Amino acid sequence: MEKLLIAGDRVPTVSGQTTQLIDPATGEAWMEVAAAGVEDVDRAVQVADQARAGWRRVNSRDRTQILLRLANLIRENREALAQLESRNVGKPIRDARDEVDLAADCFEFYAGTVNKFGGTVNPVAAAGTSLTFREPIGVCGLIAPWNFPIAITSWKVAPALAMGNTIVLKPASQTPLTALRLAELALEAGVPAGVFNVVPGPGSVAGNALVRHPLVRKVSFTGSTEIGTQVMKLAADDIKNVTLELGGKSANLVFVDADLDKVIPKAMWSVLGNAGQDCCARSRLLLERPLYEEFLYRLSNEFKKLKLGMPLNDDTEIGPLVSFGHRDRVQEYIEIGRKEGATLVCGGNIPAQTDLEKGAFLQPTIFADVKPNSRIAQEEIFGPVVCAIPFDHEEEAIAIANNSFYGLSGSIWTQDISRALRVAKAIETGVISINTGHSVHLEAPFGGYKRSGIGRELGLAVLAHYSELKSVFIAD
Ligand code: NAD
Ligand code: MN
Repeated sequence: MEKLLIAGDRVPTVSGQTTQLIDPATGEAWMEVAAAGVEDVDRAVQVADQARAGWRRVNSRDRTQILLRLANLIRENREALAQLESRNVGKPIRDARDEVDLAADCFEFYAGTVNKFGGTVNPVAAAGTSLTFREPIGVCGLIAPWNFPIAITSWKVAPALAMGNTIVLKPASQTPLTALRLAELALEAGVPAGVFNVVPGPGSVAGNALVRHPLVRKVSFTGSTEIGTQVMKLAADDIKNVTLELGGKSANLVFVDADLDKVIPKAMWSVLGNAGQDCCARSRLLLERPLYEEFLYRLSNEFKKLKLGMPLNDDTEIGPLVSFGHRDRVQEYIEIGRKEGATLVCGGNIPAQTDLEKGAFLQPTIFADVKPNSRIAQEEIFGPVVCAIPFDHEEEAIAIANNSFYGLSGSIWTQDISRALRVAKAIETGVISINTGHSVHLEAPFGGYKRSGIGRELGLAVLAHYSELKSVFIAD
């Protein structure tokens, strides 16, 4: 049984409630985890509040060194962490290894910012000196999703610690394992007990209690837009500082001059990575009409070659979805797509392979001739489903891409540099890539426009979201 981690100790819950984790690749129960209730969250927040003064006093060199040690401990435990994540989420082991590396790199990057992100001296029109200080906000309530648990947790924990805050983290209820392990490694690295606490549990109970707690000063939430809306309302009661990283329905815009040999595999992985359970998934494929038929024909051939398999196998390209309930939801969207009259080009079913029949697997699916206003083109499916839409000219492509409540990510595929930049400026998203399906770099800001979120993670930009800015004036 995995317990909570509060004040440096692994402790049971007050109520004795637990969550049963199900292995998504086999359907078997494999681990029980303590499910925090309101009392447990309260205790964790009180502990984090008391740990504030001590952590703030740790000088910048020592704090840097602690975070660097944590980066190295993550690397030393790479394979064990990757296997835990792979099994818990059902993600291919080779992807899990990359995500553990990203977590280590993230702590290393923010270790380097501790003694470089400070205040300013301001040339005010008064007799005296004006200074600003960057100060910790206080207790941060961090809420993570299940799709990239260790990576997204690190994007929050590393800058929060770097800026001198203390933490109560609530991982997604189905995927708490690497977060607990990360907090143990943080203790080993020298993060004082009480600074980084972890309370796995249901969002509606533990997550809700964390967002409402009056001693929590900052909430950083990554998850669905639906829950993000609730979190923002709850946080409004005492004007908490809020960062929201929410859903997406990003577009791949492929123009006729794109190099199809390069684009097809990259465009495919930009939606099928993590079995499509990616906020940045380019799930709308906008193709300029002259290449529409050829592109879809070649893309569907690639889809049929993909290796679905057990997450821990080194050659598996696509694992199961995170849970059977989530697969049901994605299948409902496939049904909606059929009813809306989109053309099913390939996939759409549970795979027939007998070795996969006990897991939450789903065939990678392409819908063509999707209407830009239809539900499958508007709503986040969060599974291995691509919606292809033809367009006739650049302005139309931009209009279709922007016809969305979301604005997280996207890609433009063209050899024409002026067009690439013109379209990049016109697309209403927080992140846009040209000739690649990747959008995440630790050193650059990441986040959404519109209903995809508020605030930014990563880069130096996130540090402002984990600190208060104090203005001091000293008269001559
Ligand atoms: P979710 O919204 O269901 O849950 C996210 C987290 O919130 C979980 O820890 C959950 O337990 C908790 N939660 C649920 N109800 C809550 C409540 N009432 N109060 C407080 N916390 C609550 O999201 P999910 O299913 O875990 O993840 C998938 C979603 O996350 C997708 O929409 C995806 O686009 C989004 N996502 C966004 C980003 C990004 O950076 N923009 C990254 C990854 C995932
Ligand atoms: Mn969910």
